[in-house]
Amino acid sequence: MKEKIVLPGDKIGTLEEFRAGKGVYEENKKLFAQVLGILEIKGKTASIRELKKIPEIKRNDVIVGRVIDVRGNFAMVEIARKKGEDRDLKYTNLGFLHISNVGKGFDSIGGAIGYFDIIKARVLDPSPKLSIDEPEMGVIKAFCNSCRSELILYEGKLKCPKCGKEESRKISNSYGKGEW
Ligand code: ZN
Repeated sequence: MKEKIVLPGDKIGTLEEFRAGKGVYEENKKLFAQVLGILEIKGKTASIRELKKIPEIKRNDVIVGRVIDVRGNFAMVEIARKKGEDRDLKYTNLGFLHISNVGKGFDSIGGAIGYFDIIKARVLDPSPKLSIDEPEMGVIKAFCNSCRSELILYEGKLKCPKCGKEESRKISNSYGKGEW
C-alpha cells in the first residue's frame, strides 16, 4: 500500500469510516491530521506516525532513505540513516529531492527515481534539500513499477527479473552492491 504523507489540518476521513487514533482529531464528525507524518490505517483506526526533525543533519552529510512520495518536480524521501553513524537515527525525517538535483538527462523526477526506491543522497541544506547529482549518489535499490520485484542491473540497464520490464533510474555506482 502506498504510504501517504499528511500535513496538520489535512482531512483524513469521516467518523463513519475511521476512529481517531494517535495524531488524529475529530471535528464535526470528520477526522483531521494533527501532526506531520505518515497515515496508518489499522482496522478502523486511523493514526499518524509523526515525522520529527533530525537535529544532527547538516550540509554535505550523506544519507540513505526511501522514496515515499513523488509530486510534480519533487520527491519526498524518508531519511533512515546518516553515513558515519553505525546506528539508525532516532528520528525519521523528510528530505526533499528536486528535479534540478538529480543530474543531467532526466526530464522528469519519475524517470530518475521510483516510488519505494532506496536512494543515497548528499544533503545540500539542512531543510533538508537533497542531491543525487554525483556518480556515487542515486538509487541503490529499485523496485519494478509493475510487480514490485527488486530490479537487477544488467549490462548497464535495470531489469525486472520477474516480468522483464526495463526501467530508467539515476543509479548510484554502488547499485545492488548492498553497501553504501
Ligand atoms: Zn516486474
